[in-house]
Amino acid sequence: MSLSPDQQAEIEDLRARPQQTLRTVAPGIEAHLYTAHPVLDHGFVRVIDYMGDDAAICQAARVSYGKGTKSVQNDEGLIRYLMRHWHSTPFEMCEIKLHVKLPVFVARQWIRHRTANVNEYSARYSILDREFYIPAPENVAAQSVINNQGRGDTLQGEDAARVLDMLKADSTRAYDHYQEMIDENGIGLARELARMNLPANVYTQWYWKVDLHNLFHFLRLRADAHAQYEIRVYAEEMCRIVADWVPFAYKAFEDYRLGSVSMSAQMVACLQRMLRGEEVTQETSDMSAREWREFKSVIDG
Ligand SMILES: Cc1cc2nc3c(=O)[nH]c(=O)nc-3n(C[C@H](O)[C@H](O)[C@H](O)COP(=O)(O)OP(=O)(O)OC[C@H]3O[C@@H](n4cnc5c(N)ncnc54)[C@H](O)[C@@H]3O)c2cc1C
Repeated sequence: MSLSPDQQAEIEDLRARPQQTLRTVAPGIEAHLYTAHPVLDHGFVRVIDYMGDDAAICQAARVSYGKGTKSVQNDEGLIRYLMRHWHSTPFEMCEIKLHVKLPVFVARQWIRHRTANVNEYSARYSILDREFYIPAPENVAAQSVINNQGRGDTLQGEDAARVLDMLKADSTRAYDHYQEMIDENGIGLARELARMNLPANVYTQWYWKVDLHNLFHFLRLRADAHAQYEIRVYAEEMCRIVADWVPFAYKAFEDYRLGSVSMSAQMVACLQRMLRGEEVTQETSDMSAREWREFKSVIDG
């Protein structure tokens, strides 16, 4: 991750100016405010602002005049009940605003989550930095043979070296041309046009604001093992931040979303038959071969 000394000084200046407020303060996330947490080779996630805490979820659920807290135990129980029964709106009362620096191909996946508010760095107005995502050697992997949408074994030796060489050389060449095209003492091409020559591993930045309910939805999909590694590492960093911000809600999310499975009516029927001691096969299960495989992977662990 590369923050310039000026950027680092701005962060330190913000962190050095605490203010008094009547608003809710969540100590766990205060410790993260403004700090850039590195992700990938040049990316980061940092918290710019937030609203609410665990108690705010209970306050909204009880439509309370005061803090909404009955007791810590009581609050945790209520939050777990709300999560278990898909009562989503109390979680929407908490919000977080993040500053994220990420490769463009990751941003394309991220932006599909429509329930956030986004403001992206303008490459029409500003010059993009010479920063490209080059994977670490252990993340350079072959196409998966079992999942068309994924990667398999790590490439080794000459193949891996060749891939990394091509990525570095092509990124450098594209950026050199970008610079040449926008040079005000040379060609002077508009930035909005010159940027089209840059590859999808160039970094962009945005401010991303979302409520806790929709953030959990994002994290469930993107912190999952099926998500691409390059977006998953952002989601995992965000999970750590959220766990510090709203520990009860995050624990409930871990237990009732991240670590849970959903079963079809056919799956439940098969499970009940198995528990009664019946032998059930895919042929007698009323499930497709794929659904049966998914079911087996859940019950066999
Ligand atoms: C592993 C993985 C693989 C994927 N592969 C592909 C792919 O190959 N191609 C592809 O195009 N996409 C792909 N996606 C993207 C995926 O289809 C979703 O677009 C993305 O995950 C955003 O999910 P979402 O719409 O639920 O989220 P959000 O946009 O945040 O929406 C949250 C929820 O709000 C509701 N909502 C939001 N907007 C609307 C609306 N306009 N109308 C109705 N309800 C709405 C829905 O209930 C939605 O679930 C993939 C995602 C994952 C995680």
